[in-house]
This record gives sequence, C-alpha cells and structure tokens, in this order.
Amino acid sequence: MKSLYFKEEHTLFRNSVRQFMEKEVIPYIEVWETERKIPKDIFKKMGEQGYLGLNFPETYGGVNADFWYSVIFLEEIAKVGAGGFPTAVSVHQFMAINHIFKAGSDFLKEKYLRPAIQGEKVAALGVSEPGAGSDVSALRTKAVKEGDFYIINGSKTFITNGTYGDFITLAVSTNPENKAGGISLIVVDLNSEGITRTKLNKMGWHSSDTAEISFDNVKVPFENLIGVENFGFYYIMESFQLERLVAGIMAVASSQWILDETIQYMHEREAFGRKIAKYQALRHTIADLATEIEAARQLVYHTCWLQAEGEVAVKQCSMIKLYCAELSNKVVDKCLQIFGGYGYMEDYFICRAYRDSRVGTIAGGTSEIMREIISKMIIDDIDYKPVYKGK
Ligand SMILES: Cc1cc2nc3c(=O)[nH]c(=O)nc-3n(C[C@H](O)[C@H](O)[C@H](O)COP(=O)(O)OP(=O)(O)OC[C@H]3O[C@@H](n4cnc5c(N)ncnc54)[C@H](O)[C@@H]3O)c2cc1C
Repeated sequence: MKSLYFKEEHTLFRNSVRQFMEKEVIPYIEVWETERKIPKDIFKKMGEQGYLGLNFPETYGGVNADFWYSVIFLEEIAKVGAGGFPTAVSVHQFMAINHIFKAGSDFLKEKYLRPAIQGEKVAALGVSEPGAGSDVSALRTKAVKEGDFYIINGSKTFITNGTYGDFITLAVSTNPENKAGGISLIVVDLNSEGITRTKLNKMGWHSSDTAEISFDNVKVPFENLIGVENFGFYYIMESFQLERLVAGIMAVASSQWILDETIQYMHEREAFGRKIAKYQALRHTIADLATEIEAARQLVYHTCWLQAEGEVAVKQCSMIKLYCAELSNKVVDKCLQIFGGYGYMEDYFICRAYRDSRVGTIAGGTSEIMREIISKMIIDDIDYKPVYKGK
C-alpha cells in the first residue's frame, strides 16, 4: 500500500531487519525469557548492522539515517514475541545514549556513545528512585563536588539494563535546594567502586533485566557531566517525548502483531462445527480493534513526521503514550479471550503478551501523568519550550 512516509529503501531496510530478527533473535527468545536476560553479544551483532546508531552521525559510528529507519527498526523489534528484548534495546539506543548525543561533550561521545553504537557497551538510564517516580523533581540521589570529582550517594530503582549494563546516564541532584533546577545528568560506569546492583523480579518483560542500584560514595570525574550542570531536569523532560513516541511505535506494532496472530488462530480453531472466524461476535471485536490500531498508527506516524521535522511535539507524544499503551492492554485482553483456555497457558504467545503489555501504562510516565500533561496543555494553555538548541 502507498505510504506518505515510507519509500522503497525503507521497505528494503524493513526486510533486512526482519531477516535479522528471524535469524538472531526469535529462535532464542524462549531461552532469554527463561534466563531472564538477553546475551550481550546480541548488542554487538546489532551494532555491526548499524541498528544501534540509526539516527546518530557517522562521526561517532552512526548511520545518520532519517527517523523512518528508526520507526521501522522499532516496529520490527516489537514483533519478536517478547516485550523484554525491545525494551532493553530501545532504552539503550533511544533513551540512555540519546542524552549523550544531544548534550554530551566530544569526550563523552567518544568514550560512551561510540562503543554503545557499536554494541560494545550496554547503556541504562537512571531517573526513577524508590521515593521519586512520577515526580522526577523529588529525586534524592546526590552528587557533591570534591576536587575534580563528583561523589555520588543514593539509589535508583526499576532500571532497565541495570544489572548487566556497562554505564548509566544518571539523574542526580547537584543543588538540592533548587529541586528541578538542581538536577544534573552524569555518566557513571556501572562497575565503579561503591555500586551495588540487585536484580528485580517482574510480572513480565522477563528478558529485559531490571535493577535497583545503590551508590555509596561513588567517585565520578567532572568530565562525565552531560551538558550544563543543573540543566538535567529539562533535558529529561524533553527526552521523555522521544521515549514516549518510541513506546507508542512499539505498542502499535505489537498490537498489530497480536491481532494478526489472533486472526490466524480464529481460522484454525473450531467450535460447534465451525471455524471461530465465522462467529460475528468475534469478527466485530476484531473489526473494532483493527480500526483503533489503525487510528493509533496514523497519530503515531504523524507525530513521527513532526519528530523527523525537528519538532518537540509534547502534546502528541503524551497522547500517543496514553492512547497506545491503553489500547495495547485492550487489544491483548480481548485477543486472549478469543484464545479461550489456551490463552491462559504459558505455551501460547498471547499469555506472555498479556503480562508484557501491562507495564505500558506505567513505565516511562503513567497514564495519569499523561492525562495531567495533556489537560494542562489544552485547558490551561501551558506550552513547553525545546531545550536542546539546534538538534
Ligand atoms: C519494568 C519497568 C522498567 C522501568 N525502566 C526504567 C528505567 O530504565 N529507568 C528509569 O528511570 N525508570 C524506569 N522505570 C520507572 C518508571 O518510569 C516509573 O515506574 C514510573 O515513572 C512511575 O513511577 P512510580 O512507579 O514511582 O509510581 P508513582 O509515581 O509512585 O505513582 C503511583 C501512582 O500514583 C499516580 N500519580 C502520581 N502522581 C500523580 C499525579 N500528579 N496525578 C495523578 N496521579 C498521580 C501514578 O499515576 C500511579 O498510578 C521502569 C518501571 C518499570 C515497571
């Protein structure tokens, strides 16, 4: 079908990503889910293909492709059969290292961005804390200056890639009196002395590793500061937009995949002597879900176009995060119903998809927070200004 956004070269790229996933990822998903981690060498393999540096400049080993290549990559990794793998990869590329690309020094780009693009180092993003999730300005992990170093104390929780990641883009308070205006981003090697990492046990996303990390007098050189000191909160707020768009792209792609698999099952399963695909109650459920997925996809693609044009589309990204995450829960719930008792069995993909979908309305900003942002923008006329100049 014709597309406003995708050209022939994009389709070729999609085919190559799909082939890669079929060869290097899908056959191993069951093992990774059981072991509750993905092996680090899959990052290297993706790095060799250029998949981890799609929108980064060639100077640092990136591909410098347009944003639609990232859209395709995200859509394809969202269909591998488990939510943990796409989460680990997207946090690495679109969340943790994006800050270094946007505001980091050349030193940080050479030391961390380049090896992350190559898949040699795995990155995590540390914002959430036991006492500060939705309210980022309440974070308490402190970085105090001593000589040429920051000394970091505190703890982070729910950190994706936290147990086996190599470094973390860490949000810390450098001026506690100033709350939001006193937060900075610092890159910290996760093998530094004073760091303790504890793996968390989750309902889903089993193949992604999620950790609580504590920092006890961790010494980090000044040169690891990203951008301007005390500007971290604004970097985080702006980067949330890409994170939420990425979450929406993957939620729509996985919803479509779940729907397609469910339709396939309806053609195979019989009840009362007929294929269940013939029952109008189920057909109408599928028609409704397909319509909602298509509507969501068009909002996502429009916002991807805004992103590609360099806009910071706060309202649209918040709407996408809200709508696509809630839609994903609805799609997987209704599709599981169509699988009957088999949908409740771990042997069926839909069972894992149900568990994996649930966190979508929580991680990366809850649905309640999305509603807060949207209502402030459309009722109180609050606007958000970009902070990364010229990028
Ligand atoms: C699997 C997983 C992976 C994650 N990965 C990362 C990661 O890599 N890095 C990272 O930094 N974080 C990560 N997170 C953290 C995630 O972003 C937070 O869980 C999320 O922001 C919510 O924070 P919280 O859990 O502290 O909930 P809270 O902030 O305690 O919220 C509790 C409830 O109160 C509601 N609430 C809070 N404030 C308001 C308000 N103003 N109005 C209305 N309702 C409100 C919330 O919507 C929620 O329902 C991850 C979380 C999970 C579960």
